[in-house]
Amino acid sequence: MAPLHLGIAGAGLLGRLLAWTLARQGHRVEVFDPAEGPEPRFDGQGAAGFTAAGLLSPLAERDVASERIAALGWRSLERWAAIVEALPGAPFFACRGSLLLAHRGDLGAARRLLARLPSADGTSRAPLPLDAAALARLEPALHGGAHAWLLPGEGQIDAVQVLRALQAAASGVRWHWGARVDAVEPGALHVAGGRAGRHAFDAVFDVRGLGARGELPLRGVRGETVWLRLPGHGLTRPLRLLHPRHRVYLAPRPGDVLVLGASEIESEDRSEVSLRSAVELMAAAHSVMPALQEARILRLDRNLRPALPDHEPRVEVVPGRVRINGLFRHGWLIAPALIDEALAEWAACERSRAAAAVAVP
Ligand SMILES: Cc1cc2nc3c(=O)[nH]c(=O)nc-3n(C[C@H](O)[C@H](O)[C@H](O)COP(=O)(O)OP(=O)(O)OC[C@H]3O[C@@H](n4cnc5c(N)ncnc54)[C@H](O)[C@@H]3O)c2cc1C
Repeated sequence: MAPLHLGIAGAGLLGRLLAWTLARQGHRVEVFDPAEGPEPRFDGQGAAGFTAAGLLSPLAERDVASERIAALGWRSLERWAAIVEALPGAPFFACRGSLLLAHRGDLGAARRLLARLPSADGTSRAPLPLDAAALARLEPALHGGAHAWLLPGEGQIDAVQVLRALQAAASGVRWHWGARVDAVEPGALHVAGGRAGRHAFDAVFDVRGLGARGELPLRGVRGETVWLRLPGHGLTRPLRLLHPRHRVYLAPRPGDVLVLGASEIESEDRSEVSLRSAVELMAAAHSVMPALQEARILRLDRNLRPALPDHEPRVEVVPGRVRINGLFRHGWLIAPALIDEALAEWAACERSRAAAAVAVP
């Protein structure tokens, strides 16, 4: 495709990944976002992408996600490996599998969850039961989970590092901060705040997350996380723990950091993390990793996941406009493969538009 002038509404996960990808393809890209600048504020107001724990779990998420999301997830794991390799500063990405743990009393719930995973298909992606000795060999820092499974091939990524690196490496892209997009039409963005007015482009991408609520039946689903530091914690893989109220996970990060998440609450409340969520998440994590009692709490964070009624991502392509939204709790899991699909559909649409223009005498 010849280089085009492209506008992007939204500089969250999708917006930054799109800007970086399209700039590398030689397009002239401008991005508009109401945030004050590219850095996260951790105040519950900015991109959900910054709050995410960055778990890349196509297997474990089958509990709540469709086969399509799992397939996008497996493809995205390969794409993330290549993307991270191309980014400056070596953002953290690891793909060593993850663990599913259940206390004795939660074995029934664990079996129900495992029954929903592709355990019987005989592939290397099936959960692998671990006895106590095998678990101790893999993750000596863990004590307390009575039942454990390895979920092979699952990964994780440092969301904040990757979002920073995508923005820094998207060369030639013009970033307009403090610029809210109020309406998106094929070939134009209507901007309020900085650079107010109608801005014309060859094509526009609407990736405003919850900011596109006027045009899509979106709702926000609150999620809360706890960032911990524990020098020498020893955990090397993300773990999930069955819990009656939360999908609890704990993900090790470079620099002795651990990300503990996440509540999932049907509320658009963006206020501070509640005591109840913090206590429940921390108590659950401590029950399988007693050393966490000495961890220091670095940050409590929260944000809203952009969800459509069916919890499926949506890609809409019309000439001059691409819309991607509804990534819910799977944005990091599926973004690269979903963007590949959307860009392929957009390129086909632009080709037929060009062919139609040539055919008209
Ligand atoms: C607590 C929590 C934990 C999560 N953990 C994971 C995880 O482990 N794995 C995973 O795969 N996913 C996870 N997610 C989900 C993931 O973060 C989202 O799916 C993803 O961020 C959605 O990407 P997005 O680009 O659509 O939206 P966002 O990342 O929210 O970006 C939207 C952008 O649009 C901008 N915007 C809003 N309104 C406008 C406007 N009017 N004009 C212009 N710009 C606008 C916003 O400022 C923002 O920058 C988690 C989410 C939360 C909240």
